[in-house]
Amino acid sequence: MSLPSRILAPGDTIGILGGGQLARMIALAAAPLGLKTHIYAPEEGSPAFDVAGTHTRAAYDDFGALEHFAKAVDVVTYEFENVPVYTAEFLSRHVPVHPGARALGITQDRLDEKTFVSRLGIETAPFAAVQDEAELEAALAEIGRPAVLKTRRFGYDGKGQVIIREGDDAAAAFEAVGRHPSILEGFVPFEREVSVVAARTEDGRFKAYEVTENEHRHHILFRSTVPANVTPAVDAVAREIARRIGESLGYVGVFAVEMFLVVVDGAQGVIVNEIAPRVHNSGHWTLDGAVTSQFEQHVRAIAGWPLGAVERLGHVEMTNLIGDEADDWQAILDEPGAHLHLYGKAEARPGRKMGHVTRIFEE
Ligand code: AMP
Repeated sequence: MSLPSRILAPGDTIGILGGGQLARMIALAAAPLGLKTHIYAPEEGSPAFDVAGTHTRAAYDDFGALEHFAKAVDVVTYEFENVPVYTAEFLSRHVPVHPGARALGITQDRLDEKTFVSRLGIETAPFAAVQDEAELEAALAEIGRPAVLKTRRFGYDGKGQVIIREGDDAAAAFEAVGRHPSILEGFVPFEREVSVVAARTEDGRFKAYEVTENEHRHHILFRSTVPANVTPAVDAVAREIARRIGESLGYVGVFAVEMFLVVVDGAQGVIVNEIAPRVHNSGHWTLDGAVTSQFEQHVRAIAGWPLGAVERLGHVEMTNLIGDEADDWQAILDEPGAHLHLYGKAEARPGRKMGHVTRIFEE
């Protein structure tokens, strides 16, 4: 059981588990609202430490440190979904935790997540649980090829997943995902990838940003664009899907629903792929391109405050700066109207998200 929430007041402190760029941008959004932030993360030099008033560097199973942290803050949130559920549950005995442990638990496990979504009558790829080679063979017989084998837990940016095509060896695929408990999904022949970033408050207020179109390169988000190339009807359906998911999870805060856009008999439709129980890379465009950023929206939602307007301010493009792409920072600064965001990470490793740039075009 979580503690009942109270409406935060300026001067109160938000505790954030995780110290990466998402925590950094939440902390940056909290400051102009008069709220303090306290980051809890194990990694030395976490990007969010630079911008928050206080930080605790400790492990997620250091219960002494967690208790101290819980007593020092007025609400706890997190920036990544792999926070252990027991950590969220432990903290929620001392302080409200948003989003709650249930949303965290469901979204940490791809099988639980797809089961949850499909029970709501929302379309997902066909899927089956895979524990061993025999179950994988049975699932392939049922779902067909091509199919995508994914570990149930700890997958991100395409890690822990492999496509099984006609003629591929199933046992080798299971080996490739480390023989972990997995899920087999039918391969969705999508036209585009889109997402909805939305916010919900404890008393059920809800707002969703317009559908965002997302282009990936090497499994990492490369660019997000709004408006997406979807019909107004699909935009409405996608936002309604997010509303129903948020409602059923009793969700508090910002979350994202990643979807595949498919075209069947000339008509667009969406299929849900994944729920992210946090602010999301595909919502970074809102920092400069919407009336209220997703980070401010998250702060408002977990504080029990009114949600901000979600309208966009033009045709918006957000491009991630991956690895040494961030070396172009001077050229980006020279570009009129480009908004540069750097995350303050010391080392630009390949594939590492170092920053992003937003460009807003008149329509
Ligand atoms: P995920 O980790 O589930 O977000 O998957 C990473 C990427 O793999 C997605 O953004 C898609 O491009 C691709 N993908 C994942 N699942 C499927 C699927 N069932 N069918 C087709 N492509 C998929």
